Amino acid sequence: MRTITLEEHFATEEFLAGPGRHLRAHPGQAELVDRLLDLGERRIAEMDQAGIDVQVLSLTAPGTEQLGAEEAAAAARAANRALAQAIQRHPGRFSGFAVLPTAAPERAAEELERAVREDGFKGAVINGHVGGRYLDDPFFWPVLERARNLDVPIYLHPTLPPRAVIETYYTGNFPPEVTSIFAMAGWGWHIETALHVLRLILGGAFDRYPDLQIIVGHLGESLPFMLPRLDHNLPPQLTKLRRTVGAYLRENVHYTFSGFNFLPAYLDLMLEVGIERILFSADYPFASMAEARSFLDHLPVSPADRERIAHGNAERLLRI
Ligand code: MN
Repeated sequence: MRTITLEEHFATEEFLAGPGRHLRAHPGQAELVDRLLDLGERRIAEMDQAGIDVQVLSLTAPGTEQLGAEEAAAAARAANRALAQAIQRHPGRFSGFAVLPTAAPERAAEELERAVREDGFKGAVINGHVGGRYLDDPFFWPVLERARNLDVPIYLHPTLPPRAVIETYYTGNFPPEVTSIFAMAGWGWHIETALHVLRLILGGAFDRYPDLQIIVGHLGESLPFMLPRLDHNLPPQLTKLRRTVGAYLRENVHYTFSGFNFLPAYLDLMLEVGIERILFSADYPFASMAEARSFLDHLPVSPADRERIAHGNAERLLRI
């Protein structure tokens, strides 16, 4: 069975000296940093060992979204160049999502088109809010429009909530180290990303670009659980949108695993959005490829549906 994973990360030395400098701040993360930097034999050996055929790679969070326009443009171009070279060296094993200078939407749209046309990238990754601004802001719509025109998806990846949100929501009668995780992998990353998707829907982005496709990881970042409630309380009579919130979540969003190897959450996602919207991913190197593969192999689905999740849906969405 061919396996294509969609939320797989890398870093460059330049990125680790810039927006990713926190990754080197903890000596305990040296191994993780080595894996992020490797776009060659070691990564491929791990893929072979775990039974992963293709990684669709993206620059790890926070990407370029917290940089100013000029800095972001240079950083995005350098990271995309490094990734394009890795894909050229290992064309059957690596593919890519471009990172963009999202703070400068027209330039981001140009870089997306260049990366897709020149380097064969399959879409873009956007790491959440852009200095506190979200993609429902029409300021960013040139990027959405270009993705729609190129018929490529945007992977909406988690990032830290804005500073004011961390102080209000995630700081309390508990230690700072709890705040830190609570605001990130413990809760904040996921809820923040779910909120971002809802803002895109409620802001009318998918009424303006009905064919635009977004991908989110982590089994839907809690959205499947809330979908019936959203449909009940935010009907089109109130939102003035063309479709129900659930319809956008079923027609404009695809969902991957990214280390959420949790069966009840998977079943809820499957029941709410259907097999054809679910794609495989591991979130390497933050989560294990072998564990992701094992979870996929043991899902209680038909062989045909397992093939759809493992590669068929990705082949259709990314033309890969
Ligand atoms: Mn990730």
